[in-house]
Amino acid sequence: MKKSNLYEIPIDSLMINIIVYEWDGDNFIIIDLNTSAQKTEDLKKELVVGKSLYKIFPSVKKFGLYDVLKRVYKTGTKEILNTRLYEDKRIKGWRKNEVIKLKNGNIMAIYQDFTKEEELKEMLDRVNNFIDSSQTIVFIWHTGEGWPVEYVSNNITDFGYSKDDFLSLKLKYKDIIHKDDLQNVINEVKEYTKNKNDKFIQVYRIITADGSIRWVDDRTTIERDSDGNVINYLGTIIDITEQKEIEDKLKESEEQFRAIAENSLMGIFIYQDTFVYVNPAITEMIGYSAEELYKIKPWEIAEEKIKTVFKSNIKRRLSGEKYPKAYNDIKIIAKNGKPRIARLMTETIKYKGKFAGLGTTVDITDIKNTQYKLKMLAQAIEQTDEMMLITDKNGIITYVNDAYIINSGYKHNELIGKTPRVVKSDMQDDKFYKKLWDTISSGCTYTNILINRRKNKELYHEEITITPIFDEDKDIISYVATAKDISLRVEMEEELNKRANIDSLTGIYNRYRGNEIIDIQLDKYHRYNTNFAILMFDIDYFKNINDTFGHDIGDLVLKKLTKLIFIHMRKSDSLIRWGGEEFIIVSEHLNENKAINLAQKLREIVVSYDFEIDSNLTLSFGVTVTKADDTKKSLLKRVDDALYQAKDSGRNCVKYI
Ligand code: GH3
Ligand code: MG
Ligand code: MG
Repeated sequence: MKKSNLYEIPIDSLMINIIVYEWDGDNFIIIDLNTSAQKTEDLKKELVVGKSLYKIFPSVKKFGLYDVLKRVYKTGTKEILNTRLYEDKRIKGWRKNEVIKLKNGNIMAIYQDFTKEEELKEMLDRVNNFIDSSQTIVFIWHTGEGWPVEYVSNNITDFGYSKDDFLSLKLKYKDIIHKDDLQNVINEVKEYTKNKNDKFIQVYRIITADGSIRWVDDRTTIERDSDGNVINYLGTIIDITEQKEIEDKLKESEEQFRAIAENSLMGIFIYQDTFVYVNPAITEMIGYSAEELYKIKPWEIAEEKIKTVFKSNIKRRLSGEKYPKAYNDIKIIAKNGKPRIARLMTETIKYKGKFAGLGTTVDITDIKNTQYKLKMLAQAIEQTDEMMLITDKNGIITYVNDAYIINSGYKHNELIGKTPRVVKSDMQDDKFYKKLWDTISSGCTYTNILINRRKNKELYHEEITITPIFDEDKDIISYVATAKDISLRVEMEEELNKRANIDSLTGIYNRYRGNEIIDIQLDKYHRYNTNFAILMFDIDYFKNINDTFGHDIGDLVLKKLTKLIFIHMRKSDSLIRWGGEEFIIVSEHLNENKAINLAQKLREIVVSYDFEIDSNLTLSFGVTVTKADDTKKSLLKRVDDALYQAKDSGRNCVKYI
C-alpha cells in the first residue's frame, strides 16, 4: 500500500473534494480523502481508508463512476463525469467528477457536489411544466419602452405565439394588446407604479397570432429594489373570454329583464325571504315603495284569511320543493288598507344562487267588480221575458238570452255565430231589411215589427228595438236587439180588423169596408180620372126561399151565391155585401158596355146555377159608371135607381143609368 503523501498537493487544505483510489487488481481501494470530501460525504477518514470503493458507494457501478475509474486507470487519460453517488431517491448526491491518473498509478477523483443546483433545476422544470400545462401564462416584463419580455411561459402558444417571439424581442408585450385598450393599460400601469402598489389587476383584450381577440385577466406584481425602484413586473395572464361572454350575456339579459320590468304595466316581482325586486307597476298597485317592500315578507300583504296557506306555499317554493307554476286570483291589502284583487302567476327561479319566486300580476279589482255587475245584469237579462239578441258590428250573433231561445225554438249553437237571417221569414221584402240595416248602421235606433219564423216554421211577430253600441271612438262595435213576441196581439188585431171589414156569413167585404172602397176609388177617379163601374144586385123574391126552405138554407144560398160571383169576377174587383141579400161590385176601368156585359154575364151564370132549391135563383142588376162631379151619394143614388128600375121592369134583368 502506498502512502498518500506521495502527491505533493496539500489536499486537505483545498475547498474541493478529493478522493484517492488504488487499484489492487480486484477493486479500487480508497486510500485517501480530504477534509472537504469527508464533510461532503459525511464519512470519517479512519473508517473508509483501506475499504473498497464498491463497499462504501454501492451504486457507483450502476451510475458509471466505476467504469470511468477503470478506464482512466487503463488509459491514463483524464475524464469528466457527472454522476450520482447514491441510489436513495431523497439523497441523490449529484457529483461532478474530474478523474485523473496520478504518476504513482493511483486514481484521483476531484469533484464538486452540485446536488442543490440540480434539485433547483429539477424544481424549476417542474414549475415550468406545471405552468405550461395550466391556463395561467406567466410573464416577466422589463420596465422599458413597450414592455420587453424577459420571461414568458411556454403556454403562450395558447395565443399562437412562441416564447422566442418575445425573447428575441421580435414582439414586445405592448404589441399584442388590443389597440383600443392599450392607452388604458398604459395609464393604469403608470398609476399603480406611481402609487407604490405592489399588485394590481387589469382586464383587457389581447390580439392572438391569428388576429382573434381574447379577454384576459392580468394580475401583476411589481418587483422593486430596496429603494423602491421598479426592477420588473411579474404577471400572470388568464384567458377569461368565455367567462366574459357569459357575464356579458348575463348582464345583457338582466338589463333586458329590467327594461321590460321597469316599463311593464304588469306587476313583476321576485321574492325570497322578503321581496327582493319589485317593478314600478307593483308599487303603484299596492302603494308601498320598493324600499318598504324589500323589508316585507310576501305573505304579509295577503288578505288575512289566506295568509297561513300563502305562507306555507311560499316556504315550500323557496325550499326548492318541486312546486308547480301557480296561477290564481288572490286578495291583497294595499298600503291604504283597501283590498285589491291580483291575478297572479308565480314560478320558481334561481336568484343569486338561491331559490326565489318570480311573479307577474295584474290588478283585476276593477275587472272583477265590472264582472260582478255584469253577472247581475246577465242574470236579469236571462230572467226577463223580453227576447234579447246581441250581434257584433257585422251582424254575427254573439249572444241570445233564454227568452230568445224559447221563442225562436232554435238552440244556442244554431244561433251563435250566425246572422239573424236564421229566423227571417219571406214576409218582409229586401227593401224592408235594407231600411233596417241602413238605420242601425248609421248609428240610429230602429223600432219596428218583424215577422220572423220559428224553427217549427211558424210565423211570429216581434216588436223589436235595435240599438247600436259604440266604443270610445264612437265606432259601432255591436248591436243589441230587444224584442217582444206580439204574435198574439197581431192575431187579435187582425181578427178585429177582419171583423170590421169582412162580412162574417159570406167572408166578403161588409158595407163598412164597401164604403171605404168606394171612397178610395172615387178619390182615385177625381185625381187620375180612373173611372169605375158599380154593379148593385139583389136576389129576386128571396123572402120566398126563407119561407119555403128555412133561414139556414137561405144563409147557405147566400154563401153559395157569393162564392159563385166571386170566382167569376176579376181579382181587382171588389165584392161587397151591401145589406141582407143586396150586393155591390166595384170594378175599375169599366165603361158602360163592359159594365152591362159583366152584369149580364153574372146574371146568366146565376140563373143557370143549381142552388138545390127546386126553382132557379135570379138576380136584378142596377149598373152605373162614374161621371164627372160624381159624389158617393150621386153614384149610389144612380145605381140604386137602376136596381129599382130592374125590379120594377120584372126582375132578372140589368138596368143602366
Ligand atoms: P124582391 O124581389 O122585391 O127583392 O123580393 P124579396 O123577397 O127578395 O124582398 P126583399 O128584398 O125586400 O126582402 C129581403 C129578404 O131577405 C128579407 C129577409 O128575410 C131576407 N134576408 C135578409 N138577410 C138575410 C139573411 O142574412 N139570411 C136569410 N136567410 N135571409 C135574409
Ligand atoms: Mg130581394
Ligand atoms: Mg132586398
